[in-house]
Amino acid sequence: MTEFKVQGSGGYVIAELTDEQAKKADLGVGKLFLAPIGKIETEKMFKHYCNNCETEFDNPPKIQLEENPNEEVAENLILVERGQYTCEKCSSIIGEYRVFKKSDESSDIGKAKPSQ
Ligand SMILES: [Zn+2]
Repeated sequence: MTEFKVQGSGGYVIAELTDEQAKKADLGVGKLFLAPIGKIETEKMFKHYCNNCETEFDNPPKIQLEENPNEEVAENLILVERGQYTCEKCSSIIGEYRVFKKSDESSDIGKAKPSQ
């Protein structure tokens, strides 16, 4: 189990990441960032640091959800969920995440099925 310090705009989160998530978070500047990962499950986050409180909390941050924005950000790419990790004390935003879906995924699955 590996714990990573993952940077956000208003602090950081200590979280357990999969290899794939760690790779996404690594923008090549020697730090990991929250934004490119997508959503991290609350159970995978152990601590958060709030720049505003200047405190590290021994709990996962809170998650503020904006559900189903369903915003088409590019052709075939839909923003399905947007949320913020927030401080448990002052509710400052620690970082943000976005979950995207390709709009043609369902038709791809249909094509992959063997015809009967
Ligand atoms: Zn705070």
